[in-house]
Amino acid sequence: MAVNSAKLIEILNLIANDIHANKDFLTELDSAIGDADHGINMSKGFKAVTEKIAAMGDKDCGSILKTVGMTLVSTVGGASGPLYGTAFMRAGQAIGSKTELGFEDLLVTLEAALEGIKMRGKAVKGEKTIVDALEPAVEALKSSPTIDINLMEEAVKAAEAGVEYTKGIIAKKGRASYLGERSIGHQDPGATSCHIMLTAILKGIKDS
Ligand code: ADP
Ligand code: MG
Repeated sequence: MAVNSAKLIEILNLIANDIHANKDFLTELDSAIGDADHGINMSKGFKAVTEKIAAMGDKDCGSILKTVGMTLVSTVGGASGPLYGTAFMRAGQAIGSKTELGFEDLLVTLEAALEGIKMRGKAVKGEKTIVDALEPAVEALKSSPTIDINLMEEAVKAAEAGVEYTKGIIAKKGRASYLGERSIGHQDPGATSCHIMLTAILKGIKDS
């Protein structure tokens, strides 16, 4: 895997496309246990991201990721904006001025993103949030000394299993927590959008 700044922008655009394609689905999930805006929030945020990063091909990877984070924080109103915004800003900080990323950097960015989300949202695994998809993915990437495309496939599968797992648990954070036990039986919107993003990243690095 060799992801330079232009390729990183391409991958971020893949994420944006898949978020737009799943806008109604994510909003539907949020209508069951939240306020029916997760797809709308994410789609709005990533539309702004695509516009902001279009001309950043000559910038380093850290600057691009930090711009994504700041754009999400400033354009997304819901809880997911500051959470994903912090994730991308932390990923950008972790990667710094690099202009090309390899598989090890994938773990560095995703681990920093997870730490950022946990720091901002104070959620741990098992509370029906983004963490339930992202943490298993990071754990999968850490399970082997060498990271390759197969391990990233495993990481995406782990995130998918994490999304499944959210169906059976009670929400302890965010709006869904107001429902208490009534949140059981519903898939978490944020964990779902996280899995969608990881799948897009996998797609993007497969041909790099
Ligand atoms: P809001 O809840 O403000 O309407 P969204 O609908 O965009 O924001 O996002 C809801 C998602 O945010 C939830 O499905 C959940 O995954 C995630 N979320 C909420 N609170 C937290 C938190 N403290 N930590 C991690 N993720 C969270
Ligand atoms: Mg919502």
